[in-house]
Amino acid sequence: MQVIQSSKLANVCYEIRGPVLEEATRLEAAGHRILKLNTGNPAAFGFECPPEILEDILRNVGSAHGYGDAKGLLAARRAVVMHNQTLGIETDVEHVFVGNGVSELIVMAMQGLLDNGDEVLVPAPDYPLWTAAVALSGGTPVHYVCDEQADWMPDLADIEAKITDRTKAIVIINPNNPTGAVYSDDLLRGLTDIARRHNLLVCSDEIYDKILYEDATHTPTAAIAPDLLTLTFNGMSKSYRVAGYRVGWMSISGPKAHADSYIEGLNILANMRLCANMPGQHGVVAALSGRQSIQDLVLPGGRLREQRDVAHELLTRIPGVSCVKPKGALYLFPRLDPKVYPIKDDRRMVLDLLRREKIMVVQGTGFNWPDTDHFRIVTLPSVTDLRDAIGRIGRFLETYRQN
Ligand code: PLP
Repeated sequence: MQVIQSSKLANVCYEIRGPVLEEATRLEAAGHRILKLNTGNPAAFGFECPPEILEDILRNVGSAHGYGDAKGLLAARRAVVMHNQTLGIETDVEHVFVGNGVSELIVMAMQGLLDNGDEVLVPAPDYPLWTAAVALSGGTPVHYVCDEQADWMPDLADIEAKITDRTKAIVIINPNNPTGAVYSDDLLRGLTDIARRHNLLVCSDEIYDKILYEDATHTPTAAIAPDLLTLTFNGMSKSYRVAGYRVGWMSISGPKAHADSYIEGLNILANMRLCANMPGQHGVVAALSGRQSIQDLVLPGGRLREQRDVAHELLTRIPGVSCVKPKGALYLFPRLDPKVYPIKDDRRMVLDLLRREKIMVVQGTGFNWPDTDHFRIVTLPSVTDLRDAIGRIGRFLETYRQN
C-alpha cells in the first residue's frame, strides 16, 4: 500500500496537543471532568479580553471581512514599530510581519531560512514548535543545554561546542517556556557574542516579555545586539490574554544588506498565506499603546503571581519533587527525583495520571528534554483548582514511588 504521510513529518512532534490530549478528549466524551493543565491559554481559565482591545476589534469587525495587506495592517505594524522603539529595538514597518499568532511566523521564518541539513540551535527544554518547525523545514534541530542547577540558564560552552559549518541560526526563548527563566543582560551578551562570531541569525521568542515576577526585568535580545540580524517574536496570546484572536508579530532588526533574499523570501511566504486574521489585528494598537493591564496580574496580590506562588509551594512539598521558581511566563517545570520516582516512560506516566486522577499535564520529553524526569504544568488555573490538581498529583505520585 502507498504510504501517504510526507516524510517531512517524520521528525515533527508536538506533544502539548498530542496523544495525551486525545485520551483526555475520549475521557471527557465518557463524562469525566478533566482539569487540563497542558496549554497556556488564559481564556480557558477565566482571564478576560482587556476591554480596550475588545472595543477596537468590535468597532472594526464589520469592515474587517476582506483580505488585508499580506504583511499586516499598517496601523498594527506602526504600533509594533513604536512599541519596539520603547524597548530599544529599531525596526520599520517594512520589516514587521503580522501573523496568525507567533506560531505561523515561526514556521515561515524557518521555511524561508533552511535547506535540508542546515542546523539551528534550539534550547532544551524548548517550546516544541521551534524544534518541529526546524524539522518540518528540512533542518536539523540541535539542542543546547539549559542548566537546571544554574536556574535553567543556557550553557554557553555547550552552545559553542555544537556549532558546525551547517549552523545557521540560534533560537532564544526569553522568558522561557517551559522553565520560566528570565535571562540577564550578561547572559544575552554571551549568547549574542556567539552569534556574532559564528555569523548566526538570532531568533528571539519574547512572547512572555511582560509576564515577569518579583524583580525580574526583561531585555530584548535585539536591544543588546543591534548590530546583529535578529528576528524578534511577540504577540497578543499571553501578555494580552487573547490567544484565540491569533495575532503575533515578527520584527526584523539589525543589518539587512546580506539578508535581502531571505527577507524577499519571507515576503513571498507572507503573500502566499494572503494575510493574517484581520479582526484580531485591529486590537494591536490598543494593546501596545495603552496601560499594560498584565501588571495587575503579576505584581504582588495579582492573580498570576499568587497562582505561581501557590503552585510552586505545593508542588515542592511533595517528596522527591523540586522546581526552580519561575521568574516569568505561565508554567512550572518540576523535576521528579529519579531515585524516588524511577520513571522510564514519562508519556506513560502522564497518561496514568490522566486516567487515574483526571489531571492533564505534559511530559518533559515533550519539550525536547532528554530525560524522563520532568513535567510541565500551567499556573493559569485558580488557586482552588491548583490546590485540587496538585493534591491529586501528589496522591498519584505516591503510587509511583520506589519502595
Ligand atoms: N512561543 C512560545 C514560547 C509559546 O509558549 C507559544 C505558545 O504557547 C508561542 C510561541 C505561540 O504563540 P501564538 O499563540 O502567538 O501562536
